[in-house]
Amino acid sequence: MRTRRLIVLISAVLIITALLPVSLSVWMAHQNATRLFTGELESFSARVMLRTTKVANQAEDALQRLEEINLTSCSREHLQEMRRVSYSHRYIQEILYFRGLQPVCSSLEGMKKSAAFPQPLAMTPKGYRFWYTAKSDLGIEHDMVALGSAHYVVMIDPESLIDVLPYGTRPINVALIGIKRNLVIASSAPLADNGWVQAIHTHQMQFQHHDIMYYITRYPALNVATLTWTSTTPLDQDWRRQLLYWLPFGGAISLLAAWYILRILRRLQSPHQRLLEAIRAREIVVHYQPILVLEDGRLAGAEALARWPQPDGTFLAPDIFISLAEQTGLITPLTELIVESVFADLGQWLQQHPDLHISINISATDLANPALPMLLEQQIAYWHLDAGQIALELTERSFADPETSAPVIAGYRKMGHAIYIDDFGTGFSSLSYLHGIKADRLKIDKSFVEALDYNNVTPHIITLAKTLHLKMVAEGIETPQQETWLREHGVEFGQGWLYSKALDKQAFIAWTERR
Ligand code: C2E
Ligand code: MG
Ligand code: MG
Repeated sequence: MRTRRLIVLISAVLIITALLPVSLSVWMAHQNATRLFTGELESFSARVMLRTTKVANQAEDALQRLEEINLTSCSREHLQEMRRVSYSHRYIQEILYFRGLQPVCSSLEGMKKSAAFPQPLAMTPKGYRFWYTAKSDLGIEHDMVALGSAHYVVMIDPESLIDVLPYGTRPINVALIGIKRNLVIASSAPLADNGWVQAIHTHQMQFQHHDIMYYITRYPALNVATLTWTSTTPLDQDWRRQLLYWLPFGGAISLLAAWYILRILRRLQSPHQRLLEAIRAREIVVHYQPILVLEDGRLAGAEALARWPQPDGTFLAPDIFISLAEQTGLITPLTELIVESVFADLGQWLQQHPDLHISINISATDLANPALPMLLEQQIAYWHLDAGQIALELTERSFADPETSAPVIAGYRKMGHAIYIDDFGTGFSSLSYLHGIKADRLKIDKSFVEALDYNNVTPHIITLAKTLHLKMVAEGIETPQQETWLREHGVEFGQGWLYSKALDKQAFIAWTERR
């Protein structure tokens, strides 16, 4: 069950890890394109600001120098000095000498008879007056920016404040905006619409209106702002270009992650992992097949056979998972689980029937597990049983290396357990082990029982067992004829579908009670 939940979890992670890098690369492509795009707008704005500051500084410098002039107002010398200052400051187009708001004389025209200036629109932080509506007297019909000190006003062409060329590849436009009245003081191109008006009064630095991206830099001291803008069409092209660059990365990472997680998933779904989980969850159960005394049909005991219940209600045959457990080293915990289950199922039943036994199948590997005899001893003590009530079935493979197996088997026998040689004659091993090892019973494999009519080996097995003083259990008895033949040939015990298949604990107890 745990594995299934893990699989669901990992599948979810798989989907996320596969999607994440791709989505991330799309996002990165977009971020990058936008970053490059706004970066260009931003740096252009910064350059415009540099230019504006440079022009403003020049105007301030000029005003400072003008205020230092100590000549008769509007005299020839005075006007000449004003002209000199105008020429040496190249952004200044005209200098006016003022009395209050009234221009008296000009660097261009000498004496002036023009109307008084309106009240300045702003005062700069350094205390200069600032206008941007005054029409120049140059005869050119466009607005001028004017900066004034106590006695002088310098006139600047607003275009010079924003006269910056964009470095980048895309055309960027810029406008100088008077914030108070949303007045476009100067602009490198006509503004498409009034979409910028609202944004300029907020704290937004960047906004998009229709297909145009705007960037705003504000100069609160002068109540002006620069507005730079460009079409977003190249952004979309850029975005696609970036995507071509990022998507293969994202795709590759996605694939790698998917491959890695699929590998984990496959391992989790592997039979080995499933068996491990089944053992941990104690899902594997034990069924019991009765063993009878052939002479009188009395119950002698039962063989414990492992069963793995599947979600569809069927049981997986032990031939499949026992060999899997043996190959993957899971047989040790599996055998311990089976032993514990036998006692949990039938400990009490065995206590009530001291003359009956349960035989448990043990693999060759189990012989090397020192915990197993301890477990048996402890369980037998717990249920107050006789060790003789638990027999151990070992296949010929377990006897293959008598040097190591013989002392362990002798140990079990000393504890009181009977040792059965299971599947006798099917292991293709030499019979030499029969000298070195002492066993108690020999199980005649069902293949020999099945072939009684035409296989003449069975009588020899019986003779051999008798010679070795081994009692016999015949497996796989399916017909009364087989039963009769085996009884007549001196086989003491038998098990098979003629009597019963392996039954679960309740069914087995019920079966024994019916007998
Ligand atoms: P086995 O120890 O020789 O067990 C006898 C097998 O013959 C069982 O198969 C049993 O169900 C089957 N059988 C009994 N009577 C008849 C019959 O009349 N006709 C037929 N056709 N078959 C019959 P099962 O339960 O499938 O077990 C197969 C083998 O798996 C066992 O052979 C045993 O070697 C192994 N095994 C089962 N449980 C365990 C276990 O807990 N531990 C270990 N190590 N091996 C186990
Ligand atoms: Mg067996
Ligand atoms: Mg057998």
